[in-house]
Amino acid sequence: MQFNDSHNQSTVKANNRSLILKAVNAFGEISRADLARLTGLTKTSVTKIVKSLIKKGILVETGIQKSQFGRKPILLKINNNSYFSIGLYISRDFIYTNAANLGGQLIYKEKRSLSKHLSMKNLKSHIKSSIDNILAHEKLPKDKVLGIGVASIGPLDLANGIILNPPNFKGLKSIPVVDFLQNEYGLPAVLDNDMNAAALAEKLFGHAKECKDFIYVGVTNGIGAGIVLDNSLFRGHNGFAGEIGHISIDMNGEKCACGNTGCLELYANIPGIVEKIQISTELGYHSSLTGQDRITWESIVHAANENDSLAAGSVEKLAYYLSIGLVSLINSFDPEIIFLGHEIALAKDIILHPLQQFINQSYLSRYSKKIKLTISKFGQNAPNIGAPSLVLNNFFNGEM
Ligand SMILES: [Zn+2]
Repeated sequence: MQFNDSHNQSTVKANNRSLILKAVNAFGEISRADLARLTGLTKTSVTKIVKSLIKKGILVETGIQKSQFGRKPILLKINNNSYFSIGLYISRDFIYTNAANLGGQLIYKEKRSLSKHLSMKNLKSHIKSSIDNILAHEKLPKDKVLGIGVASIGPLDLANGIILNPPNFKGLKSIPVVDFLQNEYGLPAVLDNDMNAAALAEKLFGHAKECKDFIYVGVTNGIGAGIVLDNSLFRGHNGFAGEIGHISIDMNGEKCACGNTGCLELYANIPGIVEKIQISTELGYHSSLTGQDRITWESIVHAANENDSLAAGSVEKLAYYLSIGLVSLINSFDPEIIFLGHEIALAKDIILHPLQQFINQSYLSRYSKKIKLTISKFGQNAPNIGAPSLVLNNFFNGEM
């Protein structure tokens, strides 16, 4: 019983600290009185918690709130550079490493290409040397690093911190990334998929600070979603929620590596579009891209922005396929807003309008409410901000 009591007390303490930290993060600058009002904590509790957070250097007092009448309270804000998190984003072809401060601002980033014939040993040595580089960075005090967040392609075993067997990932399987990092650096390490990580970044530092229920959808080699319900990430029972790339949109379609048939991401993935356009230009299609040495997603988006019909047509087709997946999400989860990020964010000027139109024609509740669709604050960089956010999210939840 004694154990339970002290355990409960420390949980209450952590929860209260989390309420304060989240409120200060959401508002940017806020007074103690407003903190008490917003969190429902007593003024005495707020004063006590704030005092200890100031002592730890996490909160600082700042200017005085502009007010016409009465006493002018002192405002509090997060001392962004008091602590840091390291982020590692593992995609199919690259690893990105970075460090971010408590404000989600990146202070360093590094990108490495992964070769076609990557061994487990090579991968670990890439990870280790890039994190060593970050830890050697002059602006990153080692004793202020809270942990390492790993945003990775899936599927993942979240409970054991293992990257299981991502399709087309050099044949690598069962990568015990969390154990590896904890053993190498003695720091807490957190693993989640890149879509969930990007959703957390949007919630903590992006346009979703005040959204309770929203979905982040990333389109790159594949398609996935990070679903936030009632302010928390919804991972599902086994951590596989949000795999919208594997919603079937054609029962008679191609067989997918997942075992299903006609999966959305077979029709709507960025390398697939690049390849199709490459073939069309080789066949002599009239397009500003014809004759270009190397066609990339960037060059397709550029051409589509300039009204090139081949490029614009393929972006519109992508919007159509994607809308089918988004409508399923809307009908299943009833979100307030959907954010798009990862590589698709590059096409922001041309994709939102057709996508919104396709969606507006087909979701069930369209007569009673409008679904907002926009680009993530971090655009294609969202998974990179997402990786360190996995640790920062635990910090703001009072778990560190
Ligand atoms: Zn599939």
